[in-house]
Amino acid sequence: KLHNTILELKGNIRVFCRVRPVLGYSDCSEKEGAVVSYPTALEFAGRGIDLTNNAQKYSFTFDKVFNHEASQEDVFIEISQLVQSALDGYKVCIFAYGQTGSGKTYTMMGKPEPQQKGLIPRSLEQIFQTSQSLQSQGWSYKMQASMLEIYNETVRDLLVPGRSGTLDANGSASKQYAIKHDSSGNTHVAELTIVDVYSIKDVSFLLNQAMQSRSVGRTQINEESSRSHFVFTLRISGVNTSTEQQVQGVLNLIDLAGSERLAKSGSTGDRLKETQAINKSLSALSDVIFSIAKKEDHVPFRNSKLTYLLQPCLGGDSKTLMFVNIAPEVSSVGESLCSLRFAARVN
Ligand code: ADP
Ligand code: MG
Repeated sequence: KLHNTILELKGNIRVFCRVRPVLGYSDCSEKEGAVVSYPTALEFAGRGIDLTNNAQKYSFTFDKVFNHEASQEDVFIEISQLVQSALDGYKVCIFAYGQTGSGKTYTMMGKPEPQQKGLIPRSLEQIFQTSQSLQSQGWSYKMQASMLEIYNETVRDLLVPGRSGTLDANGSASKQYAIKHDSSGNTHVAELTIVDVYSIKDVSFLLNQAMQSRSVGRTQINEESSRSHFVFTLRISGVNTSTEQQVQGVLNLIDLAGSERLAKSGSTGDRLKETQAINKSLSALSDVIFSIAKKEDHVPFRNSKLTYLLQPCLGGDSKTLMFVNIAPEVSSVGESLCSLRFAARVN
């Protein structure tokens, strides 16, 4: 592995907690010295976060805790080295976990305004910039992007041109995207669209296309995108023309389906099936990360599509970062406790 990536890693798995502002309160001016009434059951102290529920206090510690004041840039600064390591030939996964409305998509994608851009656009900007500056040292990089979602344990390609998003009666796409891993740790998803990308513009175009595919797919379902896992993958191959060194890195950025529990969504029928699929895959993810962290011999990758898809990028010397996104409202305290416990387990 090259370019002297210095990573202070405690193992290869890290967990960052991010609490979003209370929506509608965030503009209260601190400049005027106004005391913002902030209805929350959360307290922050360095890498610690305390949550109070039913007069009981629960304490958690993570590798990093971002409170409501953390900007998109503040967050990116903390992951930029990890992103960089994909150019050095590492396999990297960054997940956003949390209930619907907790800020996962804001963290990953953000909004179009420059200050509000999320991790995905910022990471891509950095990767393209760095790969260009490494040209002077003889490096030449080839980048390929793919974007898919996993909905009800079924893979759906988000880059099919003119994709109608029509589903069969079971709510699953008719094509079966078979997943295979070769002996050198490369993943092949049959028939998945993979696009050569040469600039941040190319990727932005594809991201827009993917976001549109995501939302036209299931207009009948409210909050449709929160019911599926979104997986953005950038494959990076680098060759150094003077030293003949080669690197193959992968950057996976994953906006997970909402983690809210069954009872709250009052599920029946299709919704029940969705929720069960989500619960199954999120607990499979937790099991996999937990068993990697514990260095267990058997890692149960095959228990879900998501973990099987990401298998080569989760074990070995790959690097994983999990964001646990938290909504600060008192009404979310039960879900927040579940999310923090989930994250504490894999931390
Ligand atoms: P999720 O993807 O987990 O369902 P979103 O990312 O859509 O949640 O966030 C819910 C709402 O909160 C959105 O309107 C989003 O813009 C806003 N939001 C989330 N996190 C932040 C933040 N850190 N700062 C400002 N607004 C945020
Ligand atoms: Mg979302």
